[in-house]
Amino acid sequence: MTLRRTGIRIAAVALAVVLAGSAYSVLSWAAAAGAVEVRNTETAVNVATALHSVTPMRERLVALTVDDGPSPLYTPEVLALLGKYDAHATFFVIGKLAVRHPDLVRREVAQGSEVGDHTWSHPKMRLLTAAQTRDEVFRGADAVTGITGTKPPFFRPPRGELTPEVSQAAAERGIPIALWDVAVDHDLHSTPLVKASWVLDRVHPGSIILMHDGGGDRSGSMAAMEIVLRVLKSRGYRIVTLSELLRHAR
Ligand SMILES: [Zn+2]
Repeated sequence: MTLRRTGIRIAAVALAVVLAGSAYSVLSWAAAAGAVEVRNTETAVNVATALHSVTPMRERLVALTVDDGPSPLYTPEVLALLGKYDAHATFFVIGKLAVRHPDLVRREVAQGSEVGDHTWSHPKMRLLTAAQTRDEVFRGADAVTGITGTKPPFFRPPRGELTPEVSQAAAERGIPIALWDVAVDHDLHSTPLVKASWVLDRVHPGSIILMHDGGGDRSGSMAAMEIVLRVLKSRGYRIVTLSELLRHAR
C-alpha cells in the first residue's frame, strides 16, 4: 500500500478496511478496481478513505453525480438531459427533501439512475459530534431506502467533508463513500461555457463528475452540463452511474 499527500493511490487493502461490510463484495470490488486514485480536492480531513475516480479505466466511461436535490425546479431538467444523451447518474439526495418529493426520487430510479445518501439535512459535518454524524448518515440512508426500496449504494458527505466520524458512520452502515474529481460548479460565478471547459479539460476515463440539482440557482450548471454531455458523447464517452463505473473497473 502506498500513500502520498497528494495524488494518493491507495491499494485494495486500504479500501477493504474502509468498505468493510459494504453492499459490495469488498474483496472482489477492490480486486476489480485495483488501485483507486484519490485526490485531495476539498478538505484535508482523512481523504484517503473515499473514492474520487476509478483508474485505470480502459473504456471511455465517466460517472455523473448530482447532489443536493431533489428539486422540483431542477431535477426534471436533469432527468430530461440524461434522457436526451442516453446517460445515467447517481443522485445524492438530501433526506428531508427526498421525503418531501418522493415522486422525483422514484423518477430518478425509473430513468435508470441510482440514488445515494447525502445526509438528512446537509449539515457542516465538521461541527457534528459522532452521534449527530451517525444520525445524519443513517436518517439519510433510511429516507432513500424508504422511497426506493433499496439501500443507497453510496454515501457522500456534504461539501466533501470527510471527517473520521463520517467514515465511521458510513462503514457502520455498510455504505461506501464516494467523492469526485471534477466539479461543474468549481467556480460558481463563471459562465456555462467556462464551467463546461473546466470539466472538459480535466475529465478522463474513470472520472467522477459532480454537479448539483439543488442548493441555489443552478441554471448556469444546467447549461454547462448540457455542453459537457454533448461534447463527451462526441468524444465517444458513455455517462453512467457510479455502480456502473465500478463494474467496468480494471
Ligand atoms: Zn451537497
